Amino acid sequence: MKIVFASGNAHKLREVTELLEASMSVPFELLSLKDIGFEGDIVEDGSTFEENSMIKAKTVYDFCHLPVIADDSGICVDALGGAPGIHSARYAQVFADKNSPDDTNTELLLKNMAGKTDRKAQFVCAVSFVSETLSFTVRGECHGEVINEKRGDGGFGYDPIFYMKEFQKTLSEVTEEEKNSVSHRGKAIRAAAEKISRAFEK
Ligand code: IMP
Repeated sequence: MKIVFASGNAHKLREVTELLEASMSVPFELLSLKDIGFEGDIVEDGSTFEENSMIKAKTVYDFCHLPVIADDSGICVDALGGAPGIHSARYAQVFADKNSPDDTNTELLLKNMAGKTDRKAQFVCAVSFVSETLSFTVRGECHGEVINEKRGDGGFGYDPIFYMKEFQKTLSEVTEEEKNSVSHRGKAIRAAAEKISRAFEK
């Protein structure tokens, strides 16, 4: 079966390809938005990760009428009341520090965490699947801590400041396999792959 992954993020596409290859029990070919010629903007105006991943999946399904997998993800920090949450991708754009408007997302988060003793945070990922006969959303979480400096150069986004006791490393310092084994996206994609496989197995 052909499945479209509804994201333009090359890092996510790589993670999701590896995860699906390891966990799907039906043959599939993963297509990108580029492969299907989708160039539109998706308005993510939901108020939860689940709503936004379903908005992405439905928008792309309505365009191509092929099975679609979409994800919406972000980091939720306890000491910041769950921020940046669903705004993770555009944190620095939406909540810029007036004195340093060019901060990256990670730099802004480090500033907002300065002096905080509760460092607990979760990465969250909602994965939605839409096809003619099946539609669902699943969620995965990954618990760790925000440290006060960047470490490592792997991964993407907030990985360099997300520390996991299990590895005694940030998610930028572990291998892709290690990250996939514990990550929010790994958990959600494995749950989705199980449901898709069960539904499409002959
Ligand atoms: P979206 O799911 O594409 O709307 O954006 C999610 C944003 O959350 C990304 O741009 C990253 O900043 C952050 N994020 C999501 N998953 C990860 C991850 O696995 N590592 C680091 N940052 C992540």
